[in-house]
Amino acid sequence: MIKNLEQFFLDNPPEKRAFIGGEYVEAADGAVMKKGNSYSGFDLSGIADCSEADVDLAVQAAKEAYESGAWSRLDVAKKKEIVLRFAELMEENREEIAALDTIETCRSFQNYYYDSIPKAIEAVRYFAEAVDKVYDKSICGRAGMHGIVKRVPLGVVGVITPWNDPMVVTMWKVIPSLLMGNSVVIKPAEQSSLSTIRVAALMKEAGIPDGVVNVVPGRGEVAGKALALHMDVRGIFFTGSSEIGKKLLEYAGQSNMKKVGLECGGKGPYIVSSKCGDIALAAKTLADNMFYNQGQICSAPSRVIAETSVKDAFIEELEKQCAVYVPDDPYSLESRVGCVVSREQYDKVQAYIAYARECGYTVYQPSDRGTMPEGACYILPTVISGLKPEDKLAKEEIFGPVVVILEAESVNEAVNMANASEYGLAGAVWTDDLNEAYDVAERVEVGLMHINSYGEDDNAAPFGGVKQSGLGKDKSSYAFDEYSDLKTIWMKFR
Ligand code: NAD
Repeated sequence: MIKNLEQFFLDNPPEKRAFIGGEYVEAADGAVMKKGNSYSGFDLSGIADCSEADVDLAVQAAKEAYESGAWSRLDVAKKKEIVLRFAELMEENREEIAALDTIETCRSFQNYYYDSIPKAIEAVRYFAEAVDKVYDKSICGRAGMHGIVKRVPLGVVGVITPWNDPMVVTMWKVIPSLLMGNSVVIKPAEQSSLSTIRVAALMKEAGIPDGVVNVVPGRGEVAGKALALHMDVRGIFFTGSSEIGKKLLEYAGQSNMKKVGLECGGKGPYIVSSKCGDIALAAKTLADNMFYNQGQICSAPSRVIAETSVKDAFIEELEKQCAVYVPDDPYSLESRVGCVVSREQYDKVQAYIAYARECGYTVYQPSDRGTMPEGACYILPTVISGLKPEDKLAKEEIFGPVVVILEAESVNEAVNMANASEYGLAGAVWTDDLNEAYDVAERVEVGLMHINSYGEDDNAAPFGGVKQSGLGKDKSSYAFDEYSDLKTIWMKFR
């Protein structure tokens, strides 16, 4: 196991160039991004800063590869074999991939190595195993006629990813795209490009033909925008903020009406009913799902709505759980939680906490502040109570380890509060009353609802939101529908 991450990358500098047509290349104008990480400032400058010209080259390579049929028309059994080989290569390189994500995002190495990267590999395997169990359809009811309704690839697909779980989100989108026969151009987040750059070579090694997978690191408003506006890109699939998701819809309209898939933000409602039979477990489950990546989780249960009679007991239990998630050295395999991704994200989250204090709300943070060095960008688990549902803290996605507690006089009021949000990604209800549980689960407007649980994870379940949390779904065999189109072929018999 790597002992000293910084020394490891000084001795083995990571690849920082774009990956186009099966080769690593500098940006056409030689531009690179400058940055240091959020734990120690470790210098990570030098990642290619791709412009429109690079995106154009990548799309051309992807288009040529697609049209050659070398991948797009390859038997599904062969595609499956190659993708499974890629999963094996990810497994063999798991430590390095986890280390790359850690050094760049400063989420804990433990979390990447034991949780995030294995999840990404499981997703790759799930899609490879699922693809030949998905059937196309036929229309057989007409005499002398037969209609085949089949999935067809979109062509060149663009994938734009966020930094909070780089490999998981990339695999959720890229692998079903590939298995449907598309060629892909990936624009990773500026804050987390290295792992995506690295795995592109593993895809090549596994047998994916040159040009089928391309990576163009760079800024969102330059490389991401160019990809989304490109006339030869037929689908753009994105995970990130709702604000940028809306821009992608505009870009699709301004260019070629490309298919758009969006996984955006959330403000997960977590309803605790007076009929909840285990308040301590409800609080622990919230902490486990809210604080593990410094709260940088789109589906985080960041908005507790507790009935008056259980609110104080819930807060008391939650405060005890905060101590478990005090951040520590992100490079150590012993640390559960590391830093937030950047100084910019740190300032944004701290501004919300400062605002809560100015408003006179109750702000709880554990007294043990951990052993982080001066200058490291970390935030203690924070519980804010005493605010109204209309407050911006209860409405906006903070994307940090900050949970707000709202009070409702009844479960009915809690459901109305939960739905008074433009977000609709994930939610929960805690109650021992089965009728109440199912009623609430049906009425809360989210893509993923939990009863007496949270964050249940299974590749067979679709993941994605409603309202401004997004369009379309990742994971499960439904993902194949996102990355393909339907075509009907009629046959008439003499
Ligand atoms: P972001 O929207 O700022 O950036 C996401 C990606 O979009 C990055 O690769 C960025 O470079 C790119 N981008 C930025 N501007 C662009 C533009 N004008 N055109 C094209 N691309 C552009 O989000 P972020 O800060 O990277 O991630 C945090 C957000 O992502 C949060 O809101 C979070 O909830 C959301 N998120 C959602 C999910 C989900 O599955 N629903 C998962 C993770 C993160």
